Amino acid sequence: MPEGIQVKVRTEGSAVNGTVEKKAIDKEALRQKYMEERNKRLRPDGNAQYVRIEDQLSHYLDDPYVEFKERAPKSDHVTVAFIGGGYAGLVTGARLAEQGVTDVRIIEKGGDFGGTWYWNRYPGAMCDTASFIYMPLLEETGHMPTEKYAHAPEILEHCRRIGNQYGLYDNALFHTQVKTLRWDGEARVWRITTDRGDDFTAQFVAMGTGPLHVPKLPGVPGIEDFKGHSFHTSRWDYDYTGGDENGAPLSKLADKRVALIGTGATAVQCIPHLASACRTFYVCQRTPSSVDVRDNVKTDPDWFREMATPGWQQRWMENFTLNQTGGDAQEDLVQDGWTDLSRRIRSKINELPEADRGNPLKMLEAYEDSDFEKMEEIRDRIDSVVEDGETAYRLKAWYRQLCKRPCFHDEYLDAFNEPSTVLLDTDGKGVERITEKGVVVGGREYEVDCIIYGTGFEVGTELAHRAGFETVGRDGITLTDYWKDGMRTKHGINVHGFPNAFWVQPTQGANLISNIPHNIVESGMTIAMMIRHALDGGYQTVEVTEDAEDAWLELLKTGPGMMLGSPDCTPGYYNNEGQPIPEAAKMNVGYPAGATAYFRYIKAWRESGDFEGIEFA
Ligand code: NDP
Repeated sequence: MPEGIQVKVRTEGSAVNGTVEKKAIDKEALRQKYMEERNKRLRPDGNAQYVRIEDQLSHYLDDPYVEFKERAPKSDHVTVAFIGGGYAGLVTGARLAEQGVTDVRIIEKGGDFGGTWYWNRYPGAMCDTASFIYMPLLEETGHMPTEKYAHAPEILEHCRRIGNQYGLYDNALFHTQVKTLRWDGEARVWRITTDRGDDFTAQFVAMGTGPLHVPKLPGVPGIEDFKGHSFHTSRWDYDYTGGDENGAPLSKLADKRVALIGTGATAVQCIPHLASACRTFYVCQRTPSSVDVRDNVKTDPDWFREMATPGWQQRWMENFTLNQTGGDAQEDLVQDGWTDLSRRIRSKINELPEADRGNPLKMLEAYEDSDFEKMEEIRDRIDSVVEDGETAYRLKAWYRQLCKRPCFHDEYLDAFNEPSTVLLDTDGKGVERITEKGVVVGGREYEVDCIIYGTGFEVGTELAHRAGFETVGRDGITLTDYWKDGMRTKHGINVHGFPNAFWVQPTQGANLISNIPHNIVESGMTIAMMIRHALDGGYQTVEVTEDAEDAWLELLKTGPGMMLGSPDCTPGYYNNEGQPIPEAAKMNVGYPAGATAYFRYIKAWRESGDFEGIEFA
């Protein structure tokens, strides 16, 4: 272990006669270590460090999965246009179909439905939240997830299943990107143009464009100079690597030297596959991920049959949300890393003397204690699996668990015991340069045949927010202008000045990050019911009033503020790369009383049939 970067941990007990070793944690030393590691990684350029994929780099965006098909441009009218063919579009389309609205056109830049699951086909890709709550409409489609954490091909297939069952393929436009979206106040329709020459209208438009759809490359010089092969993890090149997305070995890498840049949630999943396949495999690490136990298991069909009584998936989702967001759930149906963390925090709070339980400082202290314990367990697991002490030390994450996307995996750590795997830890500095022949780390060039960029997606940038087009509402106001001082919505769904438009995303609604589909399922239903109501009443427009939007924002301001993204955390996309959160992002919050309360509220709101705050005209 390198000198000077040890953290003092006093051991109080040891594993004698099967008793679990109990550590006393030097909290002050850990706090200091966390801060040192964070400071090492702070950089003034923040998000600007990343390289946008355009011009001569645009080949990194090419679709390796589905062949581009010529088609005639559309110039017709549809009742609903939905931008984005991921979960949001599929679920909203399904909910609309259930409400009898079938004239729905989904516009999708990929060659099929699936969204993130269309693009992310890297080996080992699987969901990180239990399939039973992560895969939407399981009950409606009758599908039983084959594993607690389903692999990507099964999820993609499920997306296609939803598309087929609800007739969403019939009118969908694939490999199509919206270029302009403009409200025509006279005709009271949205006019949509695309990069395929389409120019059509829709009475209603909804959007689920996701925050993680534009890949990015690391901000290091020389990317264009590399003469070997390279690709981003969201465009996996199986022609080059061999194998397939179902897990067949990456046989063409047996004589190859490969560098993977990044150790985020994506890398954690594909590293075990690369480790066993390459002649030499370099893992270029800037910040280690926290990787907890996954415990994936196959689903027992007998158990599933018995469990899946009517309404089961809604019950499971609600139970997870209640457990995960600090509710007083009597049972934990999902039992995973997310609910474990919440259970621990709750039990720490319950250990507090009665008088301290309502004291926010004491509660925060209890939260910190449970986090320290969890992270120590995660770090100790590395020592118990990774054989080389130096590598084990370098793989340890020194920050609180929710500072970055928590990862869970059962084979990740073992990958570092493969003789061909070399961890190139950059001690927070990152890869310095790409050359014609390879990567430069710590001043040394490592020659490779292939570089794989596991460097994530644009999140905090203008490009990510705009989804590649501008939305122009009533009287020519752009969404960018309307939101220049921060997001303004009611429920995260309706925006004043943008009639007949709906957004499907969690912010300013439940804001439940640990299971995004739960937000989508609820929003999809809410939107479908508003559209049904408008059609039944012969209304031409549906719009949130200015007062109702203001009141919603005032309500949001009474909440605790942004939960993720503490500036004390190690930099990453959760906290704007450690830079101050821009004023305009401060309203990226959720319902003050929490996700469970929001879901109860929104169900009552839409089912009342009043749609309070929305004007139907
Ligand atoms: P991330 O943004 O999480 O990770 C990018 C990685 O690239 C980080 O490790 C980052 O390091 C590293 N990096 C950037 N620049 C450099 C550099 N110059 N040198 C070395 N390393 C560098 O992207 P992912 O694709 O891993 O994940 C994105 C998100 O997608 C996840 O957070 C999660 O929300 C989602 N996801 C979900 C999955 C699931 O549910 N199954 C699976 C995979 C992803 P640093 O940390 O220092 O910035």
